[in-house]
Amino acid sequence: MTASHDDPLFATFSRADIRVERGEGVWLRTTDGRRFLDFTGGIAVNVLGHAHPHLVDALKRQAETLWHASNLFQIPGQEQLGQRLVNASFADKVFFANSGAEALECAIKTARRWHHVEGRPERFRILTFEGAFHGRTLATIAAGGQAKYLEGFGPPVEGFTQLPFADLEAARAAAAGDDVAAFLVEPIQGEGGVRAAPPEFLAGLRALSEEFGLLLIFDEVQTGIGRTGRFFAYENSGVAPDILASAKGLGGGFPVGACLATADAAKGMTAGSHGTTFGGNPLAMAVGNAVLDVVLADGFLEEVRRTALQFKQSLASLQDRHPDLVEEVRGEGLLIGLKPRVPNTAVIERLRAHEMLAAPAGDNVIRFLPPLNVTADEVRLGMERIEAAFADLDGRADASDAA
Ligand code: PLP
Repeated sequence: MTASHDDPLFATFSRADIRVERGEGVWLRTTDGRRFLDFTGGIAVNVLGHAHPHLVDALKRQAETLWHASNLFQIPGQEQLGQRLVNASFADKVFFANSGAEALECAIKTARRWHHVEGRPERFRILTFEGAFHGRTLATIAAGGQAKYLEGFGPPVEGFTQLPFADLEAARAAAAGDDVAAFLVEPIQGEGGVRAAPPEFLAGLRALSEEFGLLLIFDEVQTGIGRTGRFFAYENSGVAPDILASAKGLGGGFPVGACLATADAAKGMTAGSHGTTFGGNPLAMAVGNAVLDVVLADGFLEEVRRTALQFKQSLASLQDRHPDLVEEVRGEGLLIGLKPRVPNTAVIERLRAHEMLAAPAGDNVIRFLPPLNVTADEVRLGMERIEAAFADLDGRADASDAA
């Protein structure tokens, strides 16, 4: 359906002509009977594919038990999932929300409150990086700083400054500011085009945070919950944050967000300082716990790394054979970006013609985000379709077309 005066929905999304009906594993069926190989994975959400039996079972059982009671009461699933996130990460404390943007809001508030209770209320500024994406609330569009998301929404929320990505000198100069509270960075910029922050850059931000008494916040909304072959992407760099925002894969398709922090960083978040009606709801917690049952099981992440290597090697071979069509293959684990020399939208359109789904990203990149339990055979099938899409485009390469 195209947007028109009788379309009841806000025109905010330009949706593809693909009406989704049901999913199973890596497959997504449409109302008109098409069956797509889904390497969009709900934009890094469906970490276990569609309708994973363990998740379905957990949700059904919880649905028959208790849906909602509010955070006025203790919810055992929250404590359980919180403890598991703590055990699997740098963190000591967790706050549950419903989305990535809300997890970021909590992260930003946590950093500012830390300075507040430390007696430095003048420190509120969050230093972020060009190309970042942190969500669509008023604070998170200000954090991302991208004009296209800020336009028309009034003055940007105060207290965010964007710095050049991966530029430690610029970071050092900004860190010295009297009002600075924290750095906020994605270990790999997802929407920004699968651009990895070099490990030495993250290590440099960690060192600057210590030197200037700042907090380091990682946005792992897209990169977390096994996506890069580690539970959190920061493990690849060996640099731990003070605060981390998670969402997307944490619920495997059920809306869940979480803000993780060290006990010290979380110390300003006292009773009444923050809240949510739905965050940590029993349904969400049941599914989140079920996701972790699978993702944290022995050998699961090792298998993700194996499959990811197979996929990346196949894409590298495609690049070798079509240097005129493929400029670069990048990313970590199953967050893979392919930068074509033709517009990414043209490739995505050809992929759809071959009944395969992939997501666009900035910098003219195509993102492949299959479920983490995608099989070697499914990756091979995906490669056949990718090869077919590029074969369609062969002879039509023109770098000047690139968007
Ligand atoms: N941060 C990052 C890195 C993201 O990729 C996204 C969503 O794409 C968000 C934050 C916002 O998450 P949500 O759309 O759940 O609010």
